[in-house]
Amino acid sequence: MDRPLLIIGAGLAGWQTVREFRKLDTTTPITLVTADAGDFYAKPTLSNAFGQKRGPAQLVTTPAATIAQTLNVTLLSHTQVTAIDTAAQVVHTSTGPLGYRDLVLATGAQPIRVPLAGAASDQVLSVNSLADFGVFHQRLTALGDGARVAIMGAGLIGCEFANDLAGAGYAVAVVDPADRPLAALLPPTASAQLQAALEGLSVQWHLGTTVQSVEPLAGALSLTLANGQRIAADIVLSAIGLRADTTLAQAAGIACERGIAVNRQLQTSAPHVWALGDGAQYASAASPGAPTGRTLPYVMPIMAAAKVLAANLCGTAATLEFAAMPVAIKTPALPIVAHPPAPGYLGAWVEQTLGEWWFAPADAPERAHGFVLTGTHTSKRMALVKQMVAVV
Ligand SMILES: Cc1cc2nc3c(=O)[nH]c(=O)nc-3n(C[C@H](O)[C@H](O)[C@H](O)COP(=O)(O)OP(=O)(O)OC[C@H]3O[C@@H](n4cnc5c(N)ncnc54)[C@H](O)[C@@H]3O)c2cc1C
Repeated sequence: MDRPLLIIGAGLAGWQTVREFRKLDTTTPITLVTADAGDFYAKPTLSNAFGQKRGPAQLVTTPAATIAQTLNVTLLSHTQVTAIDTAAQVVHTSTGPLGYRDLVLATGAQPIRVPLAGAASDQVLSVNSLADFGVFHQRLTALGDGARVAIMGAGLIGCEFANDLAGAGYAVAVVDPADRPLAALLPPTASAQLQAALEGLSVQWHLGTTVQSVEPLAGALSLTLANGQRIAADIVLSAIGLRADTTLAQAAGIACERGIAVNRQLQTSAPHVWALGDGAQYASAASPGAPTGRTLPYVMPIMAAAKVLAANLCGTAATLEFAAMPVAIKTPALPIVAHPPAPGYLGAWVEQTLGEWWFAPADAPERAHGFVLTGTHTSKRMALVKQMVAVV
């Protein structure tokens, strides 16, 4: 039998690559290997599921067996890839070796862990997969309404969980070293709006400090913060960020920086090996002053990359061009759309009106290449996208 197109990872990047490939080629054998069950779900729904009263089973949109059959894929679920031999074009897995014609690394990212002191530090949870969500959901629903959740991190995922859990009746506290929520993404006045909106749901903020230790305390947990404060919680959720999972690629000698480095055709440094998704670092178009590439851990870049990758895998040369890709932040207490400027672009946030900010160079305010919209101003999203200079 011909060597298959082999894909590692059954997240959005893996399955979307299969979908796009099958639009162009219905016969080439495809094998998808994944450490998880392989069920298809939209990962963004993990951070607004409680408000919609949905558990892990309701988040699966297509069971693994159904999607594999529909797309004519040999699915090897619960199978860990342990090594890649790029010279022999073989991957080694927990169930044996597999040859490939082309290999796609869609291995995603892993939650960043900070070392914490305390006898209960190993009880800190993070949610970056359906299985993680299953554990979190089961623990929280067993505790019931009013359970106390301490969230480490006031970034996108931390703020979304804060809104979802507070809205669902849990007592939420958020701890972050920055002095405001979403500090990396929003101008200060937009952060202030979000902070106030979540306070309206009784979210308690512990800003400008970090969690130092987690100790057991009378059947619950006690967190000690760097500022000396103590917080009692039933569950601690870490949402301090994700790091591209480059373990396999690095061990195989494939070039990696902040992610698995790919060119604008999605090729890695090894022949016949490609990458996309949260694990990849995309080459940058000539952004002045930009570093060599950037990770883009969002849905829209994956949709664009999968299309280009499928074409290249089918022998039709295609080059990745990212359009403006604003991110909708799922904080219904204050809807936000953020289109951050690419790293390296010089400029500053300029408030057009409370609820609309543009990121533009000081000497060319009309050349905005980033924006933030909040509340009712989010309806201007499409109009502003058309005005923006592309980010990558
Ligand atoms: C809570 C949350 C909310 C989000 N909300 C939004 C949002 O609102 N909008 C947005 O644009 N983005 C959002 N994102 C980001 C978006 O969901 C991700 O960018 C996207 O889902 C990543 O898909 P992926 O396929 O690259 O990675 P993953 O979904 O992480 O998939 C990686 C796959 O690789 C497999 N794998 C890894 N290593 C191995 C191995 N060695 N062997 C076998 N299999 C392996 C894993 O089992 C998994 O199947 C959110 C993310 C989270 C966590």
